[in-house]
Amino acid sequence: MAHHKKERTLAIIKPDGVQRSLIGEIVKRYEKVGLKLVGLKIIVPTGAHVEKHYTLDPEWKKNVGEKTIAAYKKQGVKPPVEDPVEQGENVLAALKKYFTSGPVIAMVWEGAHAVEIIRKLTGGTEPRTSDVGSIRGDYVLDSYQMSDMDGRAVRNLVHASGSIEEADSEISLWFSDDELIDYKLVQEQILYDVNIDGVFE
Ligand code: GDP
Ligand code: MG
Repeated sequence: MAHHKKERTLAIIKPDGVQRSLIGEIVKRYEKVGLKLVGLKIIVPTGAHVEKHYTLDPEWKKNVGEKTIAAYKKQGVKPPVEDPVEQGENVLAALKKYFTSGPVIAMVWEGAHAVEIIRKLTGGTEPRTSDVGSIRGDYVLDSYQMSDMDGRAVRNLVHASGSIEEADSEISLWFSDDELIDYKLVQEQILYDVNIDGVFE
């Protein structure tokens, strides 16, 4: 098994994040925790690319539908549709519009537990209920109810891979090998080396 410090994940600043001038703020949070940026590009995705991204996992439509329907029920509100796959289809159509509405920033971050750490800093899918202190909790106020009522995707600023497997396949979809740079950050010595050597002169 590769060392934890070699784990990589994909994060994408969605068009609303770019439009709201939050690129620097979002990058800062991932950077400050100690992760290393190994790939970065600004790109306007096509609808076909977005569909591929979200259907890399054949279960995604069902999972996204189940998650949303459960969130509605928890709030004692009737979901717009009862069938999770149908909800997933609707979300996918909305996501294609959302992601193609302007440039996005695609990034690959590397470091210990990168997938989990980036998900934690990003926060839960629905900004209305995501934790205070997370990017989605601090910078946006959207909800499943409001976005479904208006027939659009939840605007939550960032996409972040949900698991190591998801990260591996998403990174290959967005980046070629020669767009990812292997290099060292000086601070890695302090984050990962067994002994903190070379501090005193
Ligand atoms: P994520 O991994 O936290 O981004 O969430 P998912 O993979 O489950 O969903 C992908 C994206 O679809 C989310 O980030 C939202 O932008 C959007 N989305 C998810 N569920 C819903 C929903 O029930 N309604 C609407 N309108 N958008 C949704
Ligand atoms: Mg997801």
